[in-house]
Amino acid sequence: MRAGIEPQPGIMEIALYEGGQSKIEGMSDVVKLSSNENPFGASETVQEVIRRAALSVHRYPSTDHAELRAAIAEVHGLDAERIICGVGSDEIITFLCQAYAGPGDEVLYTEHGFLMYRISAHAVGATPVEAKERERTVDVDALLAACTERTKLVFVANPNNPTGTMIGGNEIARLADGIPEGAILVLDGAYAEYVEGYDGGAALVEARDNVVMTRTFSKIYGLGGLRVGWGYAPKPIIDVLNRIRGPFNLSNIALAAAEAAVRDTAYTEKCRAENTRMRAWMAEALAELGVPSDTSCGNFILARFHDADEAEACDAYLKRQGLIVRKTGGYKLPHCLRITVGDESACRRVVAAVRAFKEQPA
Ligand SMILES: *Cc1c(COP(=O)(O)O)cnc(C)c1O
Repeated sequence: MRAGIEPQPGIMEIALYEGGQSKIEGMSDVVKLSSNENPFGASETVQEVIRRAALSVHRYPSTDHAELRAAIAEVHGLDAERIICGVGSDEIITFLCQAYAGPGDEVLYTEHGFLMYRISAHAVGATPVEAKERERTVDVDALLAACTERTKLVFVANPNNPTGTMIGGNEIARLADGIPEGAILVLDGAYAEYVEGYDGGAALVEARDNVVMTRTFSKIYGLGGLRVGWGYAPKPIIDVLNRIRGPFNLSNIALAAAEAAVRDTAYTEKCRAENTRMRAWMAEALAELGVPSDTSCGNFILARFHDADEAEACDAYLKRQGLIVRKTGGYKLPHCLRITVGDESACRRVVAAVRAFKEQPA
């Protein structure tokens, strides 16, 4: 590189994000359980809306996302003026870092927290700081102890990925109370829809002026490929984030699909129920095979093996059976594999393959 041409501080610290693998060379009957996608895809209604929206791709999309925000507000009982939509919740995380953190500032999250927090912090030259977890669960005391006057953002995914664990409303409120004056608590609710009766932290956003919630259409709504997420925040924060949001960040297809998806509550309900049923079945079946997991609140389980070697060997074994799961070494959990809850046949295949792996002569 020509002398003097240098990226901004922090950029070269970013390790490229590796998405879940989706193919196995020379194998056709492959099941992808590595990215926490909805095994049933988007609903029929949403697919029809996408086909229709495709007819008007010569038109620029809405810039204020009024219709999608109204739909989200209506379904979740929220204030549309405090909603911002982004290219996945990843973009909302990026906006928050761009707007509120820079060189000399700290972005705090937990030991096994989502990798995007670290990447987004580095991208703006801020310093990522990790707090310890307790038994693969967010530890509010450790987070509070890690806060300094330079802490600007505190990210907690609840439920967390890849652990699947979550902490209660009182603990979250205690965290919001205890962080420094100039810091924002960001509750990442990517898996909130999988938790019956949970608002993702929306009520806390409304009750306070230092809490933001992020949500996504990539998980239960089955729209990961379209890239739509949203944030719920106090109005002054929304006003800040909208200044850095590109005017046409979401395509008209993405906007129409997300609106139809959030309104299709019967489908969401059905997917949640099926996930709950198969998650319980798979977790119990694996535990009986000597592969325990913490009670998961998401659409995946974090299967624990004796050690990293066994996890690695099981991953390779599953791959030979056409089953792709996620290694979690990058999340400091090298002895675990994160397995998305697929449909019933996929879950049965996983359990059968892990059984066969365990029964192999040593
Ligand atoms: C999958 C996931 C997201 C979603 O990201 P999108 O950009 O909306 O696809 C956000 N946070 C966590 C913790 C996730 O696991």
